[in-house]
Amino acid sequence: MPPKAYFYALPYEYYEKDKVRRYGFHGTSHKYVAGRAAAMLNKKPEELKLISCHLGNGSSITAIDGGKSVDTSMGFTPLAGLPMGTRSGDLDAGILQYLMKKYNLNIDEMLNILNKKSGVEGVSGVSSDFRDLSDANDKGNQRAGLALDMFCYSVKKFIGAYAAAMGGVDAIIFTAGIGENSAQQRMDIASGLEYMGVKMDENANQVRGEEKVISAPDSRVKVLLIPTNEELMIAMDTANLVKNK
Ligand code: AMP
Repeated sequence: MPPKAYFYALPYEYYEKDKVRRYGFHGTSHKYVAGRAAAMLNKKPEELKLISCHLGNGSSITAIDGGKSVDTSMGFTPLAGLPMGTRSGDLDAGILQYLMKKYNLNIDEMLNILNKKSGVEGVSGVSSDFRDLSDANDKGNQRAGLALDMFCYSVKKFIGAYAAAMGGVDAIIFTAGIGENSAQQRMDIASGLEYMGVKMDENANQVRGEEKVISAPDSRVKVLLIPTNEELMIAMDTANLVKNK
């Protein structure tokens, strides 16, 4: 990533001395699906601008320009970015001070709340599992509906931000538990992105866990469903390392 993407606007010494910067996570998954996307589109990775959406219990989005990650939603820890199953994602750090003082919480208790009791589970009070949230939403549970809306809205905003960061996007990839299985969430995320050339194919989107183009044939930006395979990527990276030793 370029420094402008991985730096936090903190005193410089925390980067220099303590290596506090954006690192990102799910790299194995993003790398695997980016490679598969290039193969599916019959292009070289260097020719493509991709936005990879790894949406599972933990979720992150990565902008990949010419085969290289140029920005990503998780940060120094996996707490950053999207709201997740039980993680808050991005929030105003001032909230920590407010809640810690008000409820007499120490930093470990506060971080436990942000990591384990927040996200869609915290908002809905129902579950961290998107299947349960969809069921509850269908039965009229408004907080489950709000949690789903917040999640899809946040993914949509990152897609817009990363298209702007790269000066365009050729393909958007959905992967991991939610990305591979939930036609509804994929549709909710992609709808409204027509202005940037994304046109979903309703029928093609009715699919789970198989590599498939789920955008309409005339969609300028391709939308791809690609099941991740982190184990295979690790094996391939390991084989390359051993070979080149
Ligand atoms: P992962 O972390 O990639 O294993 O993803 C696990 C998450 O995927 C679960 O917690 C669910 O929220 C989500 N998931 C799995 N199957 C479905 C499905 N059919 N519809 C919606 N979400 C699903």
